[in-house]
Amino acid sequence: MNSKIKIILTSFLLLFLLIACAPLSEEDYYEEEYVAETDAEVPFSGEAMSCPVITDQIIDLAVYGSEGEEDLLDEELVLVSYMVDGDEILDPAYEDVPDDLLEQQEDTELHQQLWDYYMALIPAEQRGTIAEYAITTDGVGGTLASVAQTAYDPNLWVLNVDVADTANYYELTYTLVHEFAHVLTLGPDQVVPSLAVFNNPEDNNIYLQELSACPDYFPGEGCANADSYIDDFYFQFWEELREEWDVINLEEDEDARTELLDEFYSQYEDRFVTSYAATNPEEDIAEAFTFFVFSSQPAGDTIAEEKILFFYNYPELVELRAMILNNMCTSFPE
Ligand SMILES: [Zn+2]
Repeated sequence: MNSKIKIILTSFLLLFLLIACAPLSEEDYYEEEYVAETDAEVPFSGEAMSCPVITDQIIDLAVYGSEGEEDLLDEELVLVSYMVDGDEILDPAYEDVPDDLLEQQEDTELHQQLWDYYMALIPAEQRGTIAEYAITTDGVGGTLASVAQTAYDPNLWVLNVDVADTANYYELTYTLVHEFAHVLTLGPDQVVPSLAVFNNPEDNNIYLQELSACPDYFPGEGCANADSYIDDFYFQFWEELREEWDVINLEEDEDARTELLDEFYSQYEDRFVTSYAATNPEEDIAEAFTFFVFSSQPAGDTIAEEKILFFYNYPELVELRAMILNNMCTSFPE
């Protein structure tokens, strides 16, 4: 297979990987193995600029995962969707759900409390892209939160939060910032949405046309701006791995792909802040951003540390980091 076709197929497959994610609660097997094999110290721990005890715990959980028991449903369900208007959530749309989920569906106070916490963490001027807030669940464990373009406008995004996974505020905080990082790096200011792809999500030919018309990195939503964070990140950290990455991404069998990804991560462990970051460039930049927020500035001894340092090149992100940390310190529950 020639390399151009491989690149095209690679990027095409990426479309289907976006963007649901559960960096903390998804205990894939290579994360377990990582702990057993390395018995490592927690990397990058220590003095973030404030709340060091909280940030240490957040990073610790991100690296090692939590020990909670999973109790997953067969599928992920939306319980209720709210429209977002500035700071307000309103017009709840209730889905038909099994009786045993009614209590979670009707816990308006908890829904509001979780939204308030997201608002408290993320500065208002960075929240404009989120137009919808959905309470979902796939049971205990699995996906804690995710983001995606709304069904009606590719410039607007929905934040999904699984109420069953929100008791641990260390995990919740990490994951909300991780999901915010997706919106920050893939939102319309950074990646101009492809209307053709958005309106024809099943049409491979349209996808390939849009992809080949993009001179920069194509994360799936559209063509990344040349000066976007994800484009710079991709060409700095992923371009050199492209041929190896193509083999993994082209693997259609899920088990085989997981195995290849496991090998990829084992081989390049020092390139990634977590095993989950090796999933794809989009998850990698989101994980690296979240470590940038919650860990102290590293020396840059590994590529993983270079990925954290990457964000220090952008003064606006350094400022944003300080704001998020400060916000967290004042709103993290006692
Ligand atoms: Zn993610």
